[in-house]
Amino acid sequence: MNNAALRPSPITPSVDFDAKGVQHGHLRLPYSRDDSAWGSVMIPICVIANGEGPTALLTGANHGDEYEGPAALFELAQALKPSEVNGRIIIVPALNYPAFRAGTRTSPIDRGNLNRSFPGRPDGMVTEKIADYVTRHLIPLADIVLDFHSGGRTLDFLPYAAAHELPDKDQEARCFAAVAAFAAPFSMKMLEIDAVGMLDTTVEDMGKVFVTTELGGAGTATARSIEIARKGSLNLLRHAGILSGEPDRAPTRWLDMPSSECFTFAEDEGLIAFAVDLGDAVRTGDVVAHVYPVGKTGIAPIAYRAAMDGVLAARHVPGLIKAGDCLSVIATVTEET
Ligand SMILES: [Zn+2]
Repeated sequence: MNNAALRPSPITPSVDFDAKGVQHGHLRLPYSRDDSAWGSVMIPICVIANGEGPTALLTGANHGDEYEGPAALFELAQALKPSEVNGRIIIVPALNYPAFRAGTRTSPIDRGNLNRSFPGRPDGMVTEKIADYVTRHLIPLADIVLDFHSGGRTLDFLPYAAAHELPDKDQEARCFAAVAAFAAPFSMKMLEIDAVGMLDTTVEDMGKVFVTTELGGAGTATARSIEIARKGSLNLLRHAGILSGEPDRAPTRWLDMPSSECFTFAEDEGLIAFAVDLGDAVRTGDVVAHVYPVGKTGIAPIAYRAAMDGVLAARHVPGLIKAGDCLSVIATVTEET
């Protein structure tokens, strides 16, 4: 795609990305609708800049029902002082703001899944316009990008920071060094089911350092998972040299998703009864969960078994499952640090 041929983004920032100091403002996206003829979507943004160091872009609620990112980033935006910063920190705590306000993964305006909408379109639906602005105006400013995720309302994860295998091994090494600095309890070499349309891929294709996370899920955040997000953000900013001091490196277990065998998808619907919990070890052939048909009693449950050795890294929530849902993810433990 020739980005130069695209029309300008309709989004107007109220912050000046070149100014020093702290600015709290909005990305204003025109959205004409029944209750506001010339209305807008107002996406909160904070820019903290001082000195000549690198730029970090920190984003949360790319999916609207994932809360560790917003919790850590709203706090960071109000706590950080320019005098602590060497460089620039751009914080967008709730990137898919309509979805975040609705508490849903996708946008209530256009059902857009922001993390499947990249690189976006300036003349598309609201979600595509957000993606296009991030692609053409925010990512190019950044040296390092941290995009927070967790499982939302239908998955729950072991708390991990992650990067991907990349064709450029030098860039890959820089991404994994940043994951190590984040120092979540787990660190993942992450395999995507389908990487098309993701912010991740867009950032990586621009040659930047990219870190993502899965820090829990089940439609909420815990004190523990928010603390992992908060500490990880500060660690990453220290690693980038934007904040002074060394990252506070707690031990982490390195995990790998070596092949698509790690994913199990339900072929049945019913009540799911897990036989193992997150972090538990499984061997090939072990029962991970039983799915019970719930129409009547007396029917044997369907057993879902591990296709590889490893630990349970993600599981479906809540208690009922449908055909096609991701039931579990098994990851291999590669290293303890
Ligand atoms: Zn997500």
